[in-house]
Amino acid sequence: MRILRVRYRDYDFYAALGVGERENELTCLQSIPGISGPVPLEEATRLPLVTPSKIICVGLNFRDHAAELSMPLPERPAFFLKPPSALVGDGEAIILPRHAGRIDYEAELAVIISKGGRRIPLDRAGAHIFGYACANDVTARDEQKGELMFGRCKGYDTFCPLGPWIETEMPSPDAFVRTVINGEIRQEGRLCDMIVSPAALVSHISEVMTLEPGDVILTGTPRGVGPLRAGDEVRIEIEGLGTLTNPVEWEAETASPNAD
Ligand code: MG
Repeated sequence: MRILRVRYRDYDFYAALGVGERENELTCLQSIPGISGPVPLEEATRLPLVTPSKIICVGLNFRDHAAELSMPLPERPAFFLKPPSALVGDGEAIILPRHAGRIDYEAELAVIISKGGRRIPLDRAGAHIFGYACANDVTARDEQKGELMFGRCKGYDTFCPLGPWIETEMPSPDAFVRTVINGEIRQEGRLCDMIVSPAALVSHISEVMTLEPGDVILTGTPRGVGPLRAGDEVRIEIEGLGTLTNPVEWEAETASPNAD
């Protein structure tokens, strides 16, 4: 099932996107007063898919990506956090900070948490997963190389595109994950080459921190990362999960304060 979060008639709710002839219809997944039938997609406003308490990103979860960065594989899953303020949805722009040097794309499978929990056993981890989506772990690569911590290079606003919807069915292990820039494939791998599975990551991360409903785990990127440039259209495609498309733009010359 493909799930969107939408606003319609002043109500915010999750809805299932129709398929085939009904691809322009939404079916409410909860009881909304006065809404009994399908909602036309064009009459609803898309909202961010989730409002997570945290976004946990796993690094070096594909052997070929660790090799291209000349990094040794970690002995246990390595992860860091991105702020929820980095999230943007399908169609929204990735904004390049002018001072940051090279900015890279990283195509990744996102796992969305349903029921929260701490110390979730591996054999119960699947029951805590709401669904899956395409994500882009946008990274200021030059800054990353010069710093010990990842808060800056991974944390800029717009550095976590997520979408285009939440798919509740787990993608096939053979599914491809790829980055397409301006129509050209630049990065491609297969989910089966992931070292630590999504369920094992849920279990492992919950040994450290309580996972909350709506939290997002990015599961690592395969080989082939490369730079984004202003004017690009970047697409993250995962077989079975649709296509996440984002334009790339420079930050405004004189970025205005937004501190009111
Ligand atoms: Mg990454």
